[in-house]
Parts: sequence; C-alpha cells; structure tokens
Amino acid sequence: MTEPSRIAKKSTPYWWEAAPVRPLPEQALQKQVDVVVLGAGYAGLSAGLTLARAGRSVAIFDAMNPGEGASSRNGGITSGSIRPGFATLTRKFGERTALAIEAEGKRAREFLYGFLKDEGIDCDFRLTGAFRGALGHDQYDVMARAADTLAKRLGIDTYAVPHAEQRGYIGTDFYRGGVARMDIGGLHPAKFHAGLLRVTLAAGVTVHSHTPVTAIAREGAGFEVTTSAGKIAARQVLVCTNGYTDGAVPFLRRRLVPVRSRIIVTDPLPAELMDRLMPRRMMMSENRKLGFYYRPTPDGASILLGGRDSSFAGDPVEPILRLRDGLTELFPELCDVGFTHSWFGNVAMNRDMLPRMFEKHGVLYASGFCGSGVVWAPWLGRRAAQRLLGERVDEPSAFDMRPPAAVPFFNGKPWFIPAIIKGYAIQDRIALSRAKR
Ligand SMILES: Cc1cc2nc3c(=O)[nH]c(=O)nc-3n(C[C@H](O)[C@H](O)[C@H](O)COP(=O)(O)OP(=O)(O)OC[C@H]3O[C@@H](n4cnc5c(N)ncnc54)[C@H](O)[C@@H]3O)c2cc1C
Repeated sequence: MTEPSRIAKKSTPYWWEAAPVRPLPEQALQKQVDVVVLGAGYAGLSAGLTLARAGRSVAIFDAMNPGEGASSRNGGITSGSIRPGFATLTRKFGERTALAIEAEGKRAREFLYGFLKDEGIDCDFRLTGAFRGALGHDQYDVMARAADTLAKRLGIDTYAVPHAEQRGYIGTDFYRGGVARMDIGGLHPAKFHAGLLRVTLAAGVTVHSHTPVTAIAREGAGFEVTTSAGKIAARQVLVCTNGYTDGAVPFLRRRLVPVRSRIIVTDPLPAELMDRLMPRRMMMSENRKLGFYYRPTPDGASILLGGRDSSFAGDPVEPILRLRDGLTELFPELCDVGFTHSWFGNVAMNRDMLPRMFEKHGVLYASGFCGSGVVWAPWLGRRAAQRLLGERVDEPSAFDMRPPAAVPFFNGKPWFIPAIIKGYAIQDRIALSRAKR
C-alpha cells in the first residue's frame, strides 16, 4: 500500500506553515468565574470575547492547542451555507423559514467581514465570490431558480452561470453550468483563528490550553466544572466542542456525529495554468453528496481541494487517493501533479444538518456546524454569548432551536460512516450517469 507520505509531502495542515498552533503559557486556575466555555475554536473564542467585553469573567478550556480542532484545519471558504440547500429547506420548512435561514446567513457573513476589518485581523481575506457547479441540466435549473429567489427577495449578489459561460469561471467541462455567489470569499483559517485568539486574550479572557474539561455538575444556582487542572465554579457554562465533543458532554456526544473532512494541496502550479483552471481565483464547490470544495491558496499558486474522508481511525491512504482522483476528474491536466500537504479534521453533523444553539439542563450549546463553521461558528458563538448575557437582540436567531435528535446506536464512535459514505458514492454515480444522459 502506498504510504500517505508518498502522496503528500506533509500530513499537517498547509495553514500551520504560516500560523502554527501552539500551547499558551500555563495559567493558574481561578476558583470561580462568571462563565466557563469548553472549546477554544472560533465559536468558543467569539463567545468569550463578547462576554468579556460585556464585563463577564470568562475561562475557556481546550483539550488541545487553541485552534487545533477544525478552526485551523478548514478550507477557509466563508460559505455560511446550509447543507440541505435553499430548495430543500423550502420543501421541508416552507419558503418563509428557508428565507429566514438564508437571511441570517447573509447577516452572519456581513458580521464576519465587518469583524475582520474592525479588529484589524489580517487573515488574507478576499471577497472573491464562489462558483457552485451543477451536475446536469435539471440540477442547473433548480440552482438557477434558487439564485433568482435569493437575489430578488434578499438582495444577495448571486446569479446563474450557463454552461456556455462556465469557462470564464472554472477551467473544466465537468459541470453543466452553475451558480455564482459574490458574497462568499476565502480566508486563511489559522491566521483568522490566531487573530481572534489575540483579541480575545486582550479582552481579558483566560484561555487554558491542554486542559480538558472532564465533567460538568450542577452546584446550587451554578455549576462545578471539573478540568484536568482542578475544579472551577461558574454561574454559566457554554459548550463549543463541535466535531471534537468527548465524554465530558455525553448529551451532546449522542447528537453530533464527528465526520472527517480531508484536504490536499497541490505543488505550486505555473501561473498560466492557474489562470486557465481558476481564472477568477474564486472559491468552488458542487452539489454531489460527496462533493468537493476547492480554492486557490491565498498566494494564488496552488489548488487546495477538500472532501469527505470515509475513515474514522488511523490515517489510511484511500481517502487521499479519492481526493486526488476527484481533482484529476475535474482537471485532467493535473494527473501528474504532486501534493505538498494532506490532512484531516472533524466536522460535526447532526440529523437535520442545521447548526444551532440550544439549552439543556441549564448548559448552553453552540454546535453542529456541518462543515460550514467559518461563518456560523463565530456568529452562533456570539449569539450564544448574547443569550447568556440576557441581551435583547433585534432579530431572534433562526438557529435558536431545540437540541438535535439523538443518533440511534451511537455513543461517540462513528462506526457507520464508511457504510454511509459508500451509499453516498453509489447515489453520486447514479446521479452523474443520469445527468450525462
Ligand atoms: C478539513 C476541514 C475543512 C473545512 N472547511 C470549511 C470551509 O471551507 N468553510 C467553512 O465554513 N467551514 C469549514 N469547515 C468547518 C469549520 O472548520 C468548523 O465548523 C469550525 O471550525 C468549528 O469551530 P468550533 O469552534 O465550533 O469547533 P473547533 O474549532 O473544532 O473547536 C472545538 C474545540 O473543542 C475542544 N474540546 C473538545 N472537547 C473538549 C473538552 N472536554 N474540554 C475542553 N476542550 C474540548 C477541542 O480540543 C477543539 O479545539 C471545515 C472543517 C474541516 C475539518
């Protein structure tokens, strides 16, 4: 079997070259704080920052280096998308709710872009726009209708791109047209996390790295939180552990399935080739069940492509080969390209594929970002903090919901993922052969 190292030179995130994740200096454990937050990814930090600026004392605990979860491993695409898609959301919940969800995505993206600017976070953010490819003419028609509704009803800058104009967006004939979304861009996820960590620490939040929370217990009107460094009392507790949720929060663990997402990065490509394959240097995605997301690296020199990884243990080579095959199916001229990095991280899926915040037994949760947390995690972290503060907000969040349903026969180990991914691959093959008819 080919070793992963023979396919990609490094098995650590490309992003860690410019912004490595690191432990923080050890901090003494306070006896008591207003709020304990579990998880120092985008959601936990965004919540901690909002709480501290409102005058609350906050201690954030992370089991690893801050950001070492998904927040420094992702593709950096500011999609803010909801997995079911606008057409499915409309079918399931009605057009009003579907539009409320999309409108909140618009506000969440605008919040993120304003936040980066206001806080002076330099993370290579560019509002490049995004192109989503359609597999066939039927899919194109559905996507074009949804784009038309979002443009007319919410003023989102989105439009259909017919097949004849596709090469102006992407150098492949794999798709039958697609949709452009000009409110989506790309950033350097680890630089974003580092900037968010910097402003959160500056606001007075204590962040404890390599200090897992092991239990949360009710104690009078508040909580006693047990960590690997000792116990701490808190008036309120917020859980932001998403795809890395462990046994410390069994209620959430039964409801969120950690699924691996993997990324590969090509060797630098000649500028003329990049100009042909990604003429507008946009963010890219598609509608297959096991669809790929891809983009140029911030220097515009390489292609970074991500997708589902069917493994749940070890670091097998097959998922890397699947991504490599996917890349060459889209861009046959890359059949001999080498790869600098390949790595994976966990995204958190729940049964209805909707991110949310919810409360259970007095503990607040902000989780279930289903692979789109670059926009949703900072947004729902902030909204959760506003809820803890009892702040009145002008518009209630469409994601302030009941807890997700528990997943039957699941208690943390996603043993069923390989079978589900095989099923999705079959559905994709059928959809593709139908689309080509
Ligand atoms: C490979 C990959 C590609 C992705 N691409 C994109 C993309 O292009 N666009 C997009 O929008 N989203 C993308 N995502 C999703 C996005 O990265 C996540 O949704 C987002 O980072 C989640 O942030 P978070 O703060 O909720 O969780 P995380 O950043 O995962 O942080 C959770 C933290 O909780 C900690 N933790 C867990 N249990 C405990 C405990 N008991 N005590 C203390 N700490 C604990 C963990 O150590 C971890 O650091 C991608 C994800 C991956 C993995």
